[in-house]
Amino acid sequence: MITEKNSEFKWDYAPAPEAKDHAKIKKQYDLFINGEWVKPSTKKYFDTISPSSEEKLSEVAEAGEKDVDLAVKAARNAYEKTWKKMPAKERGKYIFRIARMIQERSRELAVIESLNGGKPIRESRDFDIPTAANHFFYYGGWADKLEYAFPNRNPKSLGVAAQIIPWNFPLLMAAWKIAPALATGNTVVLKPAESTPLTALKLAEIIQDCDLPPGVVNIITGFGKTGAAMVNHPDVNKIAFTGSTDVGKLIQKSIAGSNKKLTLELGGKAANIVFDDAPINQAVEGIVNGIFFNQGHVCCAGSRLFVQEGVAAEVIQKLKARMETLIIGDPMDKNTDVGAINSKEQLLKINEYLKVGVKEGLELHQSSCSIPSKGFFCKPTLFIGAAQSHRVVQEEIFGPVLTIQTFRTIEEVIEKANNIPYGLSAGVWTDKGSKIFNLTSKMRAGVVWANTYNKFDPTSPFGGYKESGFGREGGLHGLMPYLTF
Ligand code: NAP
Ligand code: MG
Repeated sequence: MITEKNSEFKWDYAPAPEAKDHAKIKKQYDLFINGEWVKPSTKKYFDTISPSSEEKLSEVAEAGEKDVDLAVKAARNAYEKTWKKMPAKERGKYIFRIARMIQERSRELAVIESLNGGKPIRESRDFDIPTAANHFFYYGGWADKLEYAFPNRNPKSLGVAAQIIPWNFPLLMAAWKIAPALATGNTVVLKPAESTPLTALKLAEIIQDCDLPPGVVNIITGFGKTGAAMVNHPDVNKIAFTGSTDVGKLIQKSIAGSNKKLTLELGGKAANIVFDDAPINQAVEGIVNGIFFNQGHVCCAGSRLFVQEGVAAEVIQKLKARMETLIIGDPMDKNTDVGAINSKEQLLKINEYLKVGVKEGLELHQSSCSIPSKGFFCKPTLFIGAAQSHRVVQEEIFGPVLTIQTFRTIEEVIEKANNIPYGLSAGVWTDKGSKIFNLTSKMRAGVVWANTYNKFDPTSPFGGYKESGFGREGGLHGLMPYLTF
């Protein structure tokens, strides 16, 4: 057990850097349209960097409206002429092939994910990439079983899906989107976030190597404008978006009156609730996993801690001690727990919130570690003594920043936890099953983890309430947004 006292005796681990030389990153990437690499009509390319070293990794094409149109046409053509007509079990084979190729190239994908995104290699190697492969395996299995998934309902595909994803789980989000779309017989135009395009472009190479019929999956890069052109394209049948609540609202407005289907996976501000009968050491590990691993770049991050009064002092003391042992720095080092913030803009936004919290009168506590001088890093941070009305409690920070509130009764904590515009996820730590059931039935959150945190599986649905969006991804539920009955 780590206490504040014995944490002074922690030792340094020798660096264990993951090799990078096997990862093949091209100097420049074009757009992946109709199974080929196509130059952008804009003739423009933009740099993509490593947020941990600020080095340029490559440059990628900026797709304009014409390119979006080309990609949607390719997807439409592939849908009508090939994919829709193909026997479902054949479609399934392609999806399995993609899954296996992700597994085969997992080492390279993990390295590129950590280079481009800033997350620790342990995270991309042990979670992002294997889970991405698992999503393709899982949905590959459903491809020829849709009539069993939805008995007597005659499920039919929709057509062309436009899919827009954020920077926190670049390959995994691509898998969440592409796998169910293909399994249900739809074709795809996908845009990764501007700051993390590389693993999606690697996935395009895999798709090419799989001999997937041209146009079934098109991957185009660009900024928000490119995303907006995809959303507004008249020949798109379905939009799947993961990102910020602001952009989600814009999308909803811009498709009003059309019959495009929409799912939105937006922001979050999850409550992680610790009762006085909880296994405290386990809970502390769960709190750290919930907010500090992955730099808090998780929409379902446990960013609001609620501790029952009787154990508050103990939890805070153990949490501070555990924070001292976190290793922050080079994402390519296998010892690293907390990597780089994804971009300079995001770091500025987090730092702005740190100032807001202090101005609101909260006690700020940070790990005493040093952070690298190059790259974008933020120390794990606590705001102690927070209350519902504080901005740092109400607004999504999307960084390694945890607010701490205390509570006395279960009714009080449910009311406080729900009193927020978001409802994506929550965590509860207690010895009593009855308390867990009482709480889960009253929490307005799409996922509630009990005595664990941030557990994901392709078979279980994920999605939000309120301003966290609507529609579910994952599991049987994840097939529905891509089907009409
Ligand atoms: P974002 O700015 O909303 O961007 C998400 C994606 O949308 C990016 O590909 C972005 O392109 C694109 N985009 C921007 N403006 C657009 C527009 N007007 N029309 C169409 N597309 C547009 O979000 P972010 O900053 O990348 O990601 C962080 C946010 O995502 C957080 O709020 C987080 O909570 C949320 N998130 C939610 C989930 C979930 O499952 N609910 C998962 C991950 C993240 P550019 O990158 O080129 O700007
Ligand atoms: Mg953006």
